[in-house]
Amino acid sequence: KKLSDIRLNHIHQTTNTIVKTKPCRVVVEDLNVRGLLKNKHLSKSISEQCFNKFITILEYKCKWNKIEFVKADRFYPSSKMCSCCGTIKKDLKLKDRTYVCPNEKCNLVIDRDKNASINLANYKSNHKCGFLN
Ligand SMILES: [Zn+2]
Repeated sequence: KKLSDIRLNHIHQTTNTIVKTKPCRVVVEDLNVRGLLKNKHLSKSISEQCFNKFITILEYKCKWNKIEFVKADRFYPSSKMCSCCGTIKKDLKLKDRTYVCPNEKCNLVIDRDKNASINLANYKSNHKCGFLN
């Protein structure tokens, strides 16, 4: 009970922090949580983080604050796509924490999560360099 209270409190604090930055929209990944839970390396950390609860709470707080809330398509390649040139890196592994663009004309080197977050920020608007330029 105490642990789940701490987790819920953390979710509320984190979602409050996001909403307080007054973004014009929030884009989240529609993760295949059930599928990820089958991965024995990921299942513990994923279930502990209560992904679905986090998304649900973030969504209603966005609605309260009139912030557009978008769930990106489950198959949107937010991690594998280069946020600068749009090239897809097919062999990106979970352990690769740095994204190195395979396109020789681009050669972008960027933190994996930052690359994915730029791609999500650009979701359905302009999937190419717009955000970086
Ligand atoms: Zn690139």
